Amino acid sequence: MQSVYIASKNRHKVDEFQQLLVRWGVRARALPPEVPDSPETGDSFAANAMQKAAFYGDFCEGWILSDDSGLCVPVLGGEPGVHSARYAGRHGDDAANRRLLLERLSGYTGTERRAVFVCVLTAWHGATGVGLTVRGELHGEIADSARGTGGFGYDPLFYVPALGATLAEVPAEVKNAHSHRSAALNRLMRLWREATWDAPVRGQ
Ligand code: IMP
Repeated sequence: MQSVYIASKNRHKVDEFQQLLVRWGVRARALPPEVPDSPETGDSFAANAMQKAAFYGDFCEGWILSDDSGLCVPVLGGEPGVHSARYAGRHGDDAANRRLLLERLSGYTGTERRAVFVCVLTAWHGATGVGLTVRGELHGEIADSARGTGGFGYDPLFYVPALGATLAEVPAEVKNAHSHRSAALNRLMRLWREATWDAPVRGQ
């Protein structure tokens, strides 16, 4: 089975990619534990994904897969965007981030509450200098209050009309089937399958 390193020190993310990659016959590998944290200073999802892929790629051989994701709300000028994880100030304080988002959206109704989850994936192969970047999206709207206990981050606020529920109200398999992350990964796998160079997923 082919394998790719996941450009993240977050075990949860490696596991999530493992679940998504397994159906393509690819194994997700964690980075060696001694690898330092990558900087993440880009002003776009694509810049951050590339920055992480190039940084961690120096520490491992073969393919490395990095991602950057977040929530964009057009009526707020694309906020929280690349600041999604630290919108309210402290990195990873999901409850505070959700509170701030609801506060910023107070007074907005209907289509003004439209939002999109974005995931940019970069696959990088240092030895051959091959890099691929793809983007996946999931469209929905920000609910008036949090609903559901599943998922993470902004999931309890992210209402998907086609599901009639927020992402925190549906089972993980349902979220994974619709998510921005799986949309991006499906695109990447199609590119890999059509590749003429040495890729982890070959054509049939
Ligand atoms: P990262 O790409 O892991 O750095 O994620 C950035 C931030 O975007 C997360 O901390 C969440 O706040 C938000 N985010 C990204 N993907 C999701 C998702 O699938 N559900 C909920 N929040 C998400």
